[in-house]
Order: sequence, then C-alpha cells, then structure tokens
Amino acid sequence: MKISIPDFSLVVLIGPTGSGKSSFARKHFLETEIVSSDACRAVVSDDETDQAASGDAFELLRLTAGIRLRRRKLTVIDATSVQPRDRAELVQLARQYHALPIALVLNIDPDLCHERNQGRANRDFGPHVARNHSKALRRGLRGLQKEGFRQVHIMNAPAEVDALEITREP
Ligand code: ATP
Ligand code: MG
Repeated sequence: MKISIPDFSLVVLIGPTGSGKSSFARKHFLETEIVSSDACRAVVSDDETDQAASGDAFELLRLTAGIRLRRRKLTVIDATSVQPRDRAELVQLARQYHALPIALVLNIDPDLCHERNQGRANRDFGPHVARNHSKALRRGLRGLQKEGFRQVHIMNAPAEVDALEITREP
C-alpha cells in the first residue's frame, strides 16, 4: 500500500508492545522527527522502562511534540497509544497547531508481538501485556476517524507493515 501524507502532519503510531512501531518509525522518518515515550522516560529518569516516570515522560513528549508543531515540523509519536484518552491529547495537540493528525495502526497478532519481545532487553513481561494492548487497540479501531484523525491506515499483518510506502506532499 502507498499512502501520501502532508508535510505538516502529526503521525500517531498505534500498536501493542512488540508490534514494530519503533522499527517502522526508523524506517520511514528522520530520527529527529520521532518523539518516543521510551526516549522521554529515559530523559527524565535514566530508565526507559521506569513506568513510575510515565507521567513526567508524557509531559515531556507533549511539550516536545508541541514545540515541533509550533515550528511546523512533521512529528511522529512513537508510543503504544492504544487508549482513547492518550490519543485524544495528541489529536488536541495537532488541532492546536493546525497540523493534520494521522493514525498509522500496527494491528499485529499479540502472540507474535510477545514472541518478538522475548528476544529483547527490557521486555521481560508476560504475554498478557501485548494481549491487553491489542484488545484495547481493537476496541478503538472503528472510532479513530471520529476521534479526529484525518487519515487512518491500518496494517493487519507484518507483511502489510513491511509493504507500506509513504510519500509526503507539500
Ligand atoms: P515497544 O512498544 O515495546 O517499544 P515496538 O512496537 O516499538 O515495541 P519494535 O521495537 O519496533 O516494537 O519491534 C519489536 C521487535 O520486533 C524487535 O525485535 C524488532 O526487530 C522486531 N520487528 C519489528 N518490526 C518488524 C518487522 N516488520 N518484521 C519482523 N520483525 C520486526
Ligand atoms: Mg518501541
């Protein structure tokens, strides 16, 4: 699939842990365009897995994304964003700066996500984590347009993730 996104977008990746969001972001976007919740956790706590730092990390994520959008820079949010309330804040941020909010969904089988995570450092949690993310994501899928996303692209398998091509239009 080929998609075309405006130069001035807020791209929100949505997917369970292990679905491939960070890999996808690295493949398609500049390192500096990506604002990642893990990186923000590390900045505020020295530990990208410190869940107790999430509140501060997301404050930094919104601040960073907001400053980039104020400067009309395309911005990609690399966080699970499977909960409607997390997405609502991001859509609101895009609106504030008149950027186009775009949802790119990695709807990947949670058991595969878990399997991938078993080969990773810092992801030694049980299969319920990816499953819970996936359940929340699937509940929200049909409402994404209504939440305010102006483009919604859903990838339902790793092959679809690998095949996606993104072009930008001025
Ligand atoms: P988290 O939410 O935990 O940060 P994530 O969604 O960012 O997870 P990644 O770190 O991108 O996921 O990928 C998880 C694992 O899956 C990595 O080991 C990565 O190498 C592998 N992976 C990612 N994308 C693909 C893909 N398209 N095909 C095969 N393996 C992949
Ligand atoms: Mg990641």
